[in-house]
Amino acid sequence: SMEYGEAPESAAEAFAWITDNGARFGHFIDGAFTEAGEGFLSRNPANGETLATLTQGSAADVDLAVQAARKAQPKWEKLGGHGRARVLYAIARLLQKHSRLFAVLETLDNGKPIRESRDIDIPLVQRHFYYHAGMAQLMESELPDAEALGVCGQIIPWNFPLLMLAWKVAPAISMGNTVVLKPAEYTSLTALLFADICRQAGVPKGVVNIVTGDGAVGEMIVKHTDINKIAFTGSTEVGRKIRQATAGSGKALTLELGGKSPYIVFDDADLDSAVEGLVDAIWFNQGQVCCAGSRLLVQEGIADTFYAKLKARMAKLRVGSPMDKSIDVGAIVDPVQLKSITDMIAANDEGELYAAPVELPVEGSFYPPTLITGLSPSAKLMQEEIFGPVLVATTFRTPEEAVSLANNTRYGLAATVWSENVNLALSIAPKLAAGVVWVNATNLFDAAAGFGGVRESGFGREGGWEGLKAYTRPKGKLKALVNTAPNAGKGGLES
Ligand code: NAD
Repeated sequence: SMEYGEAPESAAEAFAWITDNGARFGHFIDGAFTEAGEGFLSRNPANGETLATLTQGSAADVDLAVQAARKAQPKWEKLGGHGRARVLYAIARLLQKHSRLFAVLETLDNGKPIRESRDIDIPLVQRHFYYHAGMAQLMESELPDAEALGVCGQIIPWNFPLLMLAWKVAPAISMGNTVVLKPAEYTSLTALLFADICRQAGVPKGVVNIVTGDGAVGEMIVKHTDINKIAFTGSTEVGRKIRQATAGSGKALTLELGGKSPYIVFDDADLDSAVEGLVDAIWFNQGQVCCAGSRLLVQEGIADTFYAKLKARMAKLRVGSPMDKSIDVGAIVDPVQLKSITDMIAANDEGELYAAPVELPVEGSFYPPTLITGLSPSAKLMQEEIFGPVLVATTFRTPEEAVSLANNTRYGLAATVWSENVNLALSIAPKLAAGVVWVNATNLFDAAAGFGGVRESGFGREGGWEGLKAYTRPKGKLKALVNTAPNAGKGGLES
């Protein structure tokens, strides 16, 4: 009954991996899978079919995982950067070897186009492990005063399941920490396949632990008293709860939260390129991207031309079975998310809505690429994250107005500026409240560049040196503070 486009063999391989495991999965704790327990279903959002049964973690499961991580940590840290690098390289190579299986499993579980998981998600995951293997080797020479934090609790969302795992696990273990990670409940399968890979790569038991389940399991991790750091990526609402729950606990914390990133098009921009960039900014991964360019700000003089070009391009987007290689827009991760998008759009009565005239598959969770123009800056859809394939747009007259509209948001994750005038683009960029500003480009990611937000988009950086530092602390040696001033010893500081 399933339509798998041009990649039937790959789908068969992924199903075989699921069935080989009895289509029921436990957690991965202390180097082994636990018995599958009381669980919940993981479904393919493109057709509603059940893929596997996953286990809802209990407080006892979380505690066992934390204990295993605690026990493994000192030895893992003592192994040294070079020893750990060997393990991270082995992980990276196995990810590469099984990249097709990972890509297909991700697409079946999440609904993202196979082209994206194959060409973007999984290669970035590999790159992240290779990069952090290299950084582990550099730790002693480049960060001589740093030591691991200890046990890290990591909670990730469903939009880039394996990539978000890589962003969390790779830097943490490269610096000598051990982890207890909870994948999102809709998309845990690639995390479990990753656990399998860890065994093959010779990751010592207890270094990587994965506990599945819903937000309640996340809360148990956040509140566990023997965890040194919490790293969270997800909604601003949950991020706020986590910040409250960890306040005063001594736990280190990084939060990567939501966004409503502006995409600014000046009248001198290369409009065709700006349209293509926009396709990537808002329809990549069905718009379920924290840094999606979801708010289009276009200069008044070209607005009509630009909207016309954009609509023509939208009409050509192909929406359908994510396993089909020719598809641009796949399925929304879960009916719950689809309902959230539908409800938000239904509640809006402002502006003018254009939905791409595409035929949606009858089954599964699909939403057409949509553009809403003429909204006032304070409209709910201009302010709140939709987290779906819906672009909202308004116009501006001057660069100053572009900046003030762009910054008229609670968020500050990313921003994009399109102009052929580099001086203009570079004068605008530093005025934008955003963790990253892309000029004549969008969605550029690299393991070596820190990524993160300002304002309600969170704090802390992932990737690059900043990301590594967020998984270390200064060595706990007692440092003597000696006053060498002439009056030393007369009431000054002495060790
Ligand atoms: P979410 O906050 O509902 O869930 C994220 C994770 O937190 C899931 O694993 C979930 O089970 C868990 N969780 C839920 N309630 C919890 C609680 N009370 N305590 C601890 N953990 C809890 O978000 P989502 O719907 O999965 O993801 C979408 C959001 O994530 C969007 O807002 C998006 O912008 C954001 N996001 C941000 C980034 C970034 O890097 N800034 C990247 C991807 C996604």
